[in-house]
Amino acid sequence: DTHKETRQFQTEVSQLLHLMINALYSNKEIFLRELISNAADACDKLRFEALSDDALMEGEGELGIQVEYDKDTRTVTVRDNGIGMSRDDVINNIGTIAHSGTREFLSRLTGDQKKDAHLIGQFGVGFYSSFIVADRVTLTTRRAGMGAEHGVRWESDGSGEFTVETVEKAGRGTEVVLHLKKDEDEFLDEFRLRHIITRYSDHIPLPIAMRKRDDDGKALDEWETVNRASALWTRSKSDISDEEYKEFYKHVAHDFEEPLTWTHNRVEGRQEYTSLLYIPKRAPFDLWDRDRRHGIKLYVQRVFIMDDAEQLMPTYLRFVRGVVDSNDLPLNISREILQNNRLIDGVRSGSVKKVLGLLEDLAKKDPEEYQTFWDAFGRVLKEGPAEDYANREQIGRLLRFASTHTGEATQNVSLADYIGRMKEGQDTIYYITADSHTAALHSPHLEVFRKRGIEVLLLSDRVDEWLVSHLHEFEGKSLKSVAKGDLDLGDTETEEEKKAQQEAEEQVKDLLPRIQEALGERVKEVKFSHRLTDSPACIVLSEDEMALYMQQLLKQAGQ
Ligand code: ADP
Ligand code: MG
Repeated sequence: DTHKETRQFQTEVSQLLHLMINALYSNKEIFLRELISNAADACDKLRFEALSDDALMEGEGELGIQVEYDKDTRTVTVRDNGIGMSRDDVINNIGTIAHSGTREFLSRLTGDQKKDAHLIGQFGVGFYSSFIVADRVTLTTRRAGMGAEHGVRWESDGSGEFTVETVEKAGRGTEVVLHLKKDEDEFLDEFRLRHIITRYSDHIPLPIAMRKRDDDGKALDEWETVNRASALWTRSKSDISDEEYKEFYKHVAHDFEEPLTWTHNRVEGRQEYTSLLYIPKRAPFDLWDRDRRHGIKLYVQRVFIMDDAEQLMPTYLRFVRGVVDSNDLPLNISREILQNNRLIDGVRSGSVKKVLGLLEDLAKKDPEEYQTFWDAFGRVLKEGPAEDYANREQIGRLLRFASTHTGEATQNVSLADYIGRMKEGQDTIYYITADSHTAALHSPHLEVFRKRGIEVLLLSDRVDEWLVSHLHEFEGKSLKSVAKGDLDLGDTETEEEKKAQQEAEEQVKDLLPRIQEALGERVKEVKFSHRLTDSPACIVLSEDEMALYMQQLLKQAGQ
């Protein structure tokens, strides 16, 4: 019983396919990179699973990828002997999009090809990129360890339906056959295919082989490796070009765009490991999704162990992508063991230092690029001082805020910038938190600061209240909310100002008790204040109270 069935793509897949084919057409050769990337992942997974179940190798331990073309049938084929897929795997992985938030993502597409190409890249279309050049794709696969009768064939013309049937497949792994569209004959060319493989997939640590040909161009039954086939991160830095680093990033991060920057380190001594860590350019559309994948792949002695090794990066650096390859960890390590492992803790703190150092360098050398980073991931990094107390000074140097200095919403003022502009006699970094930039900018609390020419940081991200409750000082200067407690502006006021204030206070002395009486229980205390210059009154919280808007947030959340 081969049980052939026809199924519909998820609506999202159909939409995405249609948009993608247009948006990525100008860069259509990347289909090959994506298929090779998947083939390499499949081999990695098999190698790992075989560590605990050798039978999965089925006596064929040489893992590899083959690419071939056939002018007669007008097909390009990518084949691997990796982990393969069961029928359920195929239905779940191909033809559906598991990401939550896909619909919202699609609604952001504009129809403008250039802009959409970026968005789609951010989404990571992987396998579907086959349909840029093919009008029919046939995928045949068999999961390692299952009998030859459990092969599966999936086929689609990319227009909304696909078929799945059970077939015989002797070898394990996956074969993808692209039936090229009418005008895509350029890919039926030895030189062109080799060129694409070396350009995009040279770093794949498995042999990618093509058939040898005789003098008449007839394909022979012999294969030759066309890529370099060594794990990129094991090579020395001086031997790796920027281009290679970037292509490797696209593979590990499943990203279509180039990374912003990276750091590649070999650590020797008490512990031995290599890390290659990247900062992406753009936040993935599911950055705030709790279930989203984490970014670090763990290898032990070149053997892939797991994706998304969340123990290797703290949450506030969850945007970092890359690989860590340890020489010391046991090959049979599990997620559970990772959780309480001294070696992992060492790798993690070393990697955090590298990432923070990388960001600091970027901020110094290229403030514009750093701003790109900050706009994409600043709100995530702001979780840092709470999560990683030990590194809070260094994280503090990376923070950027909006401020009354410009009044603009762009967060581009560092704490060091602020300190550099402090008034004579000022020893405090002032900030205000509010639920929007406009609300912060127009707060009556700022009046006296404006009058005195004292800068105030304008904080309006949700995470800001959390941030300032964990970052009490920076380089010896305390951080203080302008809306909390007594306001001592130090020696920034002149003698005349002080005198004028005393006189004013004297004049309204009798008024305060009457207001206090009128407001009764609703306030703790009515005080004379020098905070205001134009507004007659404002609400001030005592030092230990949560900021007002935080209270409102909690109330909204039903607490
Ligand atoms: P991604 O690689 O980012 O997960 P893709 O669209 O490229 O997205 O692939 C979707 C999924 O299909 C993969 O995650 C994998 O589970 C499965 N898959 C694709 N190609 C292969 C393959 N050659 N062997 C095994 N599984 C594959
Ligand atoms: Mg992929």
